[in-house]
Amino acid sequence: MAADRDGYESLFLDHLTWPEVELALTSGKTTAVVAVGATEQHGPHLPLCVDAELGTALAWRVARNLGDALVAPTIRVGCSEHHMGFAGTISVSPETLEAVCRDYCLSLARHGFTDICLIPSHGGNFAPIRDMVPRLQAAVEEVNGACWVGAYTDLLGLVGLWRLVVEEELGMGDRVGGHADIAEASEMLHILPELVRVDRAEAGRMGELDQELVDRIFQKGLQAVTTNGILGDPRGMDAAVGEKLLETTARIITESFREDAEPDGSAAL
Ligand SMILES: [Zn+2]
Repeated sequence: MAADRDGYESLFLDHLTWPEVELALTSGKTTAVVAVGATEQHGPHLPLCVDAELGTALAWRVARNLGDALVAPTIRVGCSEHHMGFAGTISVSPETLEAVCRDYCLSLARHGFTDICLIPSHGGNFAPIRDMVPRLQAAVEEVNGACWVGAYTDLLGLVGLWRLVVEEELGMGDRVGGHADIAEASEMLHILPELVRVDRAEAGRMGELDQELVDRIFQKGLQAVTTNGILGDPRGMDAAVGEKLLETTARIITESFREDAEPDGSAAL
């Protein structure tokens, strides 16, 4: 799909040269979308890059939807302490993540970006990012008074949305558990099928992801609730459903940024 690929590349900040970025900014592309992912275990069937790669796929779709946006490089490590019981996971503290996000936002604001949209694409980043947004906002205002920083941080809302889509498309909504499940596996099957070990897919801990389970996972680690690192069940994964999940999620996130950035309907985003 050449057209898709052309469009895809042209939205990535780090695929452009500096004169191209300058031109993009002066012609109104003043929104930057940044996914904040992770490098962490995703069961025996998915690679550690899931949250980073799905974050990039989501950020690209949100930037495309917004129309005036570029995609900044995805932050590929996040707060994954609760996954450290599984080999390979790399975790940074909330303080380190905030320092990186602050410096990212400051750099973008200094170049003239006026809207910075953060998309946590890993569960462990939602709370730290929600918490840091007011401080990031204060920091960017020091260098660019016109700059707005926002984030999409409704984790349970997102998992609920996945459940709806998977139920509607495949009748298997109960396999959405929130981690390395049928939703994430389907999305990976759509964007990077060569990295999905379909034959290793197996059920993990079943049941809905609610606040109580989320709290337990963050306190005791994921291993306390699932031995294979899966919440839900990836079996039945489907690439077309993966594409639909990405598009639906991107639409909800785009709408949320539009609402947050223009409560009175007057902002540019
Ligand atoms: Zn994930």
